[in-house]
Order: sequence, then C-alpha cells, then structure tokens
Amino acid sequence: MKKHNYSAGPCILPQEVFEKSSDAILNFNNSGLSILEISHRSKDFIAVMDEARALALELLGLEGKGYQALFLQGGASLEFLMVPYNLMRENGKAAYLDTGTWASAAIKEAKIFGNTEIVASSKEENYNYIPKNYSVPADADYFHCTSNNTIFGTQMKEFPSTNVPVVCDMSSDIFSRQLDFSKFDIIYAGAQKNMGPAGTTLVVIKEEILGKNGRTIPSMLDYLKHIKAESMYNTPSVFAVYASMLTLQWLKKSGGIAAIEKLNTEKATLLYSEIDRNPLFKGTANVADRSMMNACFLLENEDHAPIFDALWKAAGIIGLPGHRSVGGYRASMYNALSLESVQVLVDVMQDFESKISDVNF
Ligand SMILES: *Cc1c(COP(=O)(O)O)cnc(C)c1O
Repeated sequence: MKKHNYSAGPCILPQEVFEKSSDAILNFNNSGLSILEISHRSKDFIAVMDEARALALELLGLEGKGYQALFLQGGASLEFLMVPYNLMRENGKAAYLDTGTWASAAIKEAKIFGNTEIVASSKEENYNYIPKNYSVPADADYFHCTSNNTIFGTQMKEFPSTNVPVVCDMSSDIFSRQLDFSKFDIIYAGAQKNMGPAGTTLVVIKEEILGKNGRTIPSMLDYLKHIKAESMYNTPSVFAVYASMLTLQWLKKSGGIAAIEKLNTEKATLLYSEIDRNPLFKGTANVADRSMMNACFLLENEDHAPIFDALWKAAGIIGLPGHRSVGGYRASMYNALSLESVQVLVDVMQDFESKISDVNF
C-alpha cells in the first residue's frame, strides 16, 4: 500500500533520490565500488561535494554574490553555538527572536557566549504567532531568527530590515519558497527536513562577515577553516551530502524554488481550507502566520480521536501526531510530498466528518 509520509523530520524525499542513492550504494558512478567505501578525497566524491555546494547557491540565487555553501555535521543544533562563536565579540551582544522551541534552544547556546537580547517572544501564547513590532538593536553583532517553526506550525512571512548581519535557521523551510536570500548573512538548515537524510547541515555564509569578532575559535567550529578546506576540513558525511545533492538536482530539474513554491502553496491551501471548513477541526496557529510546511491542528472533540486515528492510519498516512508541546496533529508537507497525498488526508477528514454525523444523528 502506498504510504503518505507526513513526518516532521527525517522526512519524505523524492522517490528518484531513493532510487539513485540505492544504485550508488551498490555501484557508484560505475566504479565497481559503493559510495559508502570510497575516499572522500577521491575525484568522484570531490565532484559531488562541489556540485552540492554550487547547486545550493544557484537555487538560492546567491551565486557570485560573495557567499559560500558548506555541508557540515552536528545538525542545526551545532550551528546554535557556531554562530555566536564566529560572530559575537567578547563583551558583544546578539539579538534573537524567540518564536519556538528551536529558537529558544539557539538562545540558550548564545547566552554562553555573551549578552543575548530577546527582541520579542511569543512564548506566552505557546508560540502560536510570530511577533511583529520589534526592532533590532543597531549595536548587535547579529540578529538571529527561525524562518519556520517546525513544532508550532508558524512561519515568518517578513523579515526585519536592519543593518546588522541577519542569521536564519531555515531547517524546515529551506528551498520551499522564494525569498530575497541576499538579505541574509548566514542561513543554516539541518538536511533532514527538506533536503536530504540526517547527517549533514547546509550552512550558507556571506564570507565578508567572518573573522571579525576577535575570538580564538576551535578549528572544527571555525567557518573560515571550513571554507578554506572547501567543506572537507575533516571527513564529511559522504552519503548524506550525496543524497542531498540528488535532491537539489531533482529540485533544479523540477523548476527550482519558484515551481516548488507554487506546489507547496497549493498543498497548504488545500489542507488549511479543509481545517477551516470542517467543523470537527481547528488550526492552532494564528492564520496570518501559518506555516506552508507544517500544519498543526486539533480535534474540536478529543473523544473522537480513536475514530480519526483509525481512518488516517487505514489510508496509509504516516507521521501525523503533533509534537507533545502542541498535541493534536501536525501535517508536514515538505517539498517531496505530493498534492495527491494531501488530497488523501483531506478525503479522510471529510470521511471522518460524515462518520461522526452518522453517529450523532
Ligand atoms: C529540527 C530542527 C532543528 C534541529 O535540527 P538538528 O539537525 O536535529 O540539530 C533546528 N531548527 C529547526 C527549525 C528544526 O526544525
């Protein structure tokens, strides 16, 4: 039976990425060797790393604009501390927007390095909206925000204009929508949400902002060292980088971010329309701030959960339960999820509605 994978991460990837990755595990580039056993210094793998880095910049429209793309390890979580290590001056200050669990995890690490000002937070409303009227202090070393809040299903539609470097955790919406990416100085994303398997993190950096904070940075945490080594300072996650490269090739072939954004908008519109229409469901996020990637919703009547759960499971849907801090359901509609899969969920929600009205009347 076909599975419809709504998991929040690791998550669905294009079928052709699974097929090509499988081929490469058995026989990479007709070398008679598996990608799992080749040297990361081999010509064939250097070509993979170079292509993955170039495709990332190309798809984001950042080629030739002074940016470097790296594929590092340690997840987005390691970036929470690499960012302050590389950008915050001794006795300096960083500004953070607190929009959820991941944003506050980033704040926790920054506090180790120095004065960390929270410019706004939606914590008091269980992060169900994106704060709007805040200003970024002009003397901050950088401003950090989270473009999409995977757990709470909110997404930033606008970014503040400021003269301080802007750092954005785009783990769960990278390559999903068009933005002027040149407004950002560092973009980072754990691969496993919208780009590849777990094990690598894309970091895109405007090179000119580095090397200015006067700290001695341990080599593995120093962006400049990774740039100099062309993302091969130590052994990279060979397979994760390869599969990420395949996803980026797929995205380019499919028409790039503009085409996928159109599809993502259709998917999100289809599901949110049903959440709003169907009297048995309610969305949790402020409507204007709803995420196109992660739609969070609750049942109006929790007692109906066993009926709804049985229906979506029977339809082949996977990964729908919400994060424990929100409860209910979370439908993660990453790039590789098809419109047909969203239609299957909507059909289940409508089927559920008719079953419940049969019981009640
Ligand atoms: C999942 C996630 C993280 C954590 O990513 P890891 O790669 O597991 O460290 C950070 N930020 C956001 C927005 C996420 O969705």
